[in-house]
Amino acid sequence: MKSVDIDQIGQLPGRRIEENDTFLFRCHPGVACFNRCCRNLNLFLYPYDVIRLKNSLGISSDEFLDQYVDFVLRPSNFFPDVLLRMSENHEHTCPFLQVSGCSVYPDRPDTCRTFPLEQGLLYDAALRKNRPIYFFRPPDFCLGRHEDQVWTIPSWSKDQEADTYHEMTIRWAELKQLFQTDPWGREGPEGPRAKMAFMATYNMDQFRDFVFHSSFLKRYRVKSALLRKTASDDAELLKLGLAWVKLFLWGMPSKSIRPR
Ligand code: SF4
Ligand code: SF4
Repeated sequence: MKSVDIDQIGQLPGRRIEENDTFLFRCHPGVACFNRCCRNLNLFLYPYDVIRLKNSLGISSDEFLDQYVDFVLRPSNFFPDVLLRMSENHEHTCPFLQVSGCSVYPDRPDTCRTFPLEQGLLYDAALRKNRPIYFFRPPDFCLGRHEDQVWTIPSWSKDQEADTYHEMTIRWAELKQLFQTDPWGREGPEGPRAKMAFMATYNMDQFRDFVFHSSFLKRYRVKSALLRKTASDDAELLKLGLAWVKLFLWGMPSKSIRPR
């Protein structure tokens, strides 16, 4: 999810879709382009995507990150982007694509759920907070936009069971925005604090071990209701991780966690 400057909106590709605007779309196995969109992608994975996929596959965070992910550190950002590694076949298909469709469909990433929309994050100066914005942007080969099913953003999100994904992605995007300035100093983006921040956002198995089996709880007071849930719930643990990174790197307070 990109952070969008209000001055850039008119220049972005695709049709801006406001909350009550409608768009036409339907995807089904009968379309001639079936599965064509699941290949040769720059598919960004957000922290909640990784939780859902590694749990769907029944593997650990480490195994998922080793087997399925590439990291890209861009010059304009001080935290790596995490991309799903495409298969090494001639079409570079998504590793989860099968002839019958997506093999992880109930746990597919946020970007796949949101498609044919793309989501961005806009800072609304009047409200003094971020809000999501959407663009209708299917590629030319996607025939689903010529079908006659009518959607709004809320009805599409509900149909795709994307509400939790969107909520978690926005939390992540708000933290990622902070990485537009360098928090690492001399350590650089591969130093020990960077590794800790990556663990607390993308590696929930390691972060859980760190919270419960290090001096973490001696150094930080975590809201008790949240701490109870983090023992078994990866999404709640991620919320703690996001709050902790803000505190750990930028000293930003939250209701979830504070130093002792
Ligand atoms: S290209 Fe569009 S219509 Fe075709 S399978 Fe993908 S999403 Fe569906
Ligand atoms: S995760 Fe599923 S829907 Fe997304 S690109 Fe891969 S096969 Fe397609």
